[in-house]
Amino acid sequence: MSWAAGWRSFCRTILKVFGDGSGLETDGRQRAGAATDGVGAMRTETAENWYEVRTLNDAVIHIQEPHIRPFYRCNIWLVCGRERDLLIDSGSGLVSLCEQVASVRSSRILAVATHCHFDHIGSHHEFGERAVHKREAQFLAEPDREAVLIEPYATVEMFSALPPGGYDHGEYAIHPAPATQILEDGDILDLGDRHLEVIHTPGHSPGSIALWEAATATLFSGDTVYDGPLVTDTWNASLDNYVRSVERLQDLPARVVHGGHFPSFGGDRFRLLLHAFLTRHRV
Ligand SMILES: [Zn+2]
Ligand SMILES: [Zn+2]
Repeated sequence: MSWAAGWRSFCRTILKVFGDGSGLETDGRQRAGAATDGVGAMRTETAENWYEVRTLNDAVIHIQEPHIRPFYRCNIWLVCGRERDLLIDSGSGLVSLCEQVASVRSSRILAVATHCHFDHIGSHHEFGERAVHKREAQFLAEPDREAVLIEPYATVEMFSALPPGGYDHGEYAIHPAPATQILEDGDILDLGDRHLEVIHTPGHSPGSIALWEAATATLFSGDTVYDGPLVTDTWNASLDNYVRSVERLQDLPARVVHGGHFPSFGGDRFRLLLHAFLTRHRV
């Protein structure tokens, strides 16, 4: 068996053990029917069409779930290295991400969480090596529905088309995925030929991190900064910490920023967004 075939078989085994989060064991049509209550008929997508994959510059692969509406649609980044790849966030977990990644890359993977909201950690349990900041390690290990914001956000309104098997808010859950590596500010994630520095950016959530690759002046900013409505007031958020984190990011000579949601942007837009945030929120 080739390495890639072996990896796909490993993904399938993991799915058998944990399920794929979409509740395929129950009747799909019933579930889809229940899920459309109050929102009209909604198409159900196939697993093959669930993800969209694009290769960007600097050996970065962007994966997203186009049938989840933009505000809830997490950007998943695969940073390709010589010795291993870094998977930054893992989306909703409604369809196997491990199988999707195996179809484009056959490298060893470290799955890191920029923070532990459900839209960023849904598929972490599918990967054997997992990293998270120490302030959110407990949420990755025990993803309490309130702590990961399934309550109140993960409703059927977040979809433009339903995942295979439909969607039931009451049954949707994030599988426990205890970290194999606990991160702190200043840690370096070593991919062999690439190195990303962990910047602790509490505020949006207590263990939010950004990842900085100095060699390419690229910032993976999670939900701390993206080009859309930033969330400062959700459960466990701290506006005071958020302001301090944004002040700290101002010092970075970023050329490219890949955020947790919405399209990527350049350094000028980055500085403008930080300035606008501080103007609005700094006392
Ligand atoms: Zn978030
Ligand atoms: Zn998010």
